[in-house]
Amino acid sequence: MRPHGKLEYGGQAAPLRTCVGCRVRTVSSELLRLVVVEGVIVPDLRRRLQGRGASLHPTLSCLELAERRRAFPRAFRAAVPLDLSRLRGHLEGQAG
Ligand SMILES: [Zn+2]
Repeated sequence: MRPHGKLEYGGQAAPLRTCVGCRVRTVSSELLRLVVVEGVIVPDLRRRLQGRGASLHPTLSCLELAERRRAFPRAFRAAVPLDLSRLRGHLEGQAG
């Protein structure tokens, strides 16, 4: 028997979020929560930071998709360009 996938939580309703990169809806625990601090997008690893958040799969490919779609300024309602370097560094650090 194979498991049916990660979206099945024994019938429990899990909170769903949409990845701003690939636009796939999945449980929030699969996505990295992002917030903007002073114009810099930072990963909210403890899910404690205040403010408007966005969700992204913790992969460089989804980061690139989000960049190409200009999804971050939209998601954060930012009028100025956002600094992605810290987020990219985080993702590169955990990519094998
Ligand atoms: Zn994604």
